[in-house]
Amino acid sequence: MNLNYYKGLKKIGNIPINHRVKTLKLCNKITLQVCTFAALNFIKLKYANEAIASFLTIAMIEDKNPQRTSISQLGEFGLIDHLTKNFQITQASTLKGIGDDAAVLDFKDKKAVISTDLLIEGVHFDLAYMPLKHLGYKAVVVNLSDICAMNAKPTQITVSIAVSNRFPLEALEELFEGITHAANEYKVDVIGGDTTSSQKGLIISITAIGEADENEIVYRNGAKQTDLLVVTGDLGAAYMGLQVLEREKQVFQVNPNSQPDLDAYTYLIERQLKPEARKDVRTLLHALEIKPTSMIDISDGLSSEIIHLCKQSKVGCNLYEDKLPIDPQFINVCEEFNIDSTTVAINGGEDYELLFTIPIEDFDKIKGNPNFSIIGHMTQESEGIHLVTRANTKIPLKARGWDALNQ
Ligand code: ADP
Ligand code: MG
Repeated sequence: MNLNYYKGLKKIGNIPINHRVKTLKLCNKITLQVCTFAALNFIKLKYANEAIASFLTIAMIEDKNPQRTSISQLGEFGLIDHLTKNFQITQASTLKGIGDDAAVLDFKDKKAVISTDLLIEGVHFDLAYMPLKHLGYKAVVVNLSDICAMNAKPTQITVSIAVSNRFPLEALEELFEGITHAANEYKVDVIGGDTTSSQKGLIISITAIGEADENEIVYRNGAKQTDLLVVTGDLGAAYMGLQVLEREKQVFQVNPNSQPDLDAYTYLIERQLKPEARKDVRTLLHALEIKPTSMIDISDGLSSEIIHLCKQSKVGCNLYEDKLPIDPQFINVCEEFNIDSTTVAINGGEDYELLFTIPIEDFDKIKGNPNFSIIGHMTQESEGIHLVTRANTKIPLKARGWDALNQ
């Protein structure tokens, strides 16, 4: 378990009192009820106020109170200026950031690595339990994770949003607070984007840029038949965090006065609401003098990512059930939900850990390292891709993705 999660969450997670007061002022009757719910639980629930604060977000959006600032009052340029005025440039490779027709970057003798993602309200996130500040943070992190998965260093991002006028300026400020927090944490420059309207809902598209020496870049297609399969961190927690939040949302809809006790789920909720990109792995591997032969980040689920590595590298794989790194809190909650922990660990998505292969000769360099778990090995392509269970049976691995868990 990464203790930085807790430190980081405290920073971004606890909504300052003055902010909550400000939010209260913006609230109407429904919101006040939710605020009471939040306040009742605020002290008892260390991090659960995250989830509850998001109910505030929803109420704030639906609020008809004239005190909130309509985005149309600012106009497009006023809005862009307002949202982007605090971004600072820190990377030497950023020659020109926001403010012209295009940004200008100079990577000198390095290669540039670029990745983009689109997040759509109702498809990729639910504002019922995702506070906008966390959404901003997560939207950045999931993109930076792709850069880390190339073994590159993230350096810049662009941020594009489409919003309907049901979002007041205050809601967008929250979103950009999360984006700014992530940009500061990961030391990336926000160098541009686009701001436009949507008929319904919120759409966010982030493009992440990174740099690396050509020989450092790791692709998905380099795994060899005898390589070891290694994963960082632990698996499945983000998926179970989502299950807990979904359950609380339903309880809240039926009984707004209920007081959820989320203490037993803090790690899982954090993994769902505030994931981190494994920016540290590049440095850790460099120090160990290991260069992975192939690498991918875990966004859709371990099994799906293993299949990507195998297909692109033309190899097979044996994954060992008893080697899967899982957190004790995750096991308890799987039991509570009556879900098989192995199924979730291999199919649950959004862990944003890194999965990679290394030559077997590097075994001694990595064994016993708390940052890494060796979870299997590659084989000849003709041997196929299997999970070897605790009972030593081989089951073909299927890319079920995390949605399949709901079927
Ligand atoms: P253009 O008309 O050339 O598209 P805009 O008026 O949309 O320019 O944008 C002005 C500047 O603000 C550009 O540098 C653009 O990259 C930046 N920008 C616009 N929207 C965002 C945003 N959501 N986040 C960061 N930068 C943005
Ligand atoms: Mg534009």
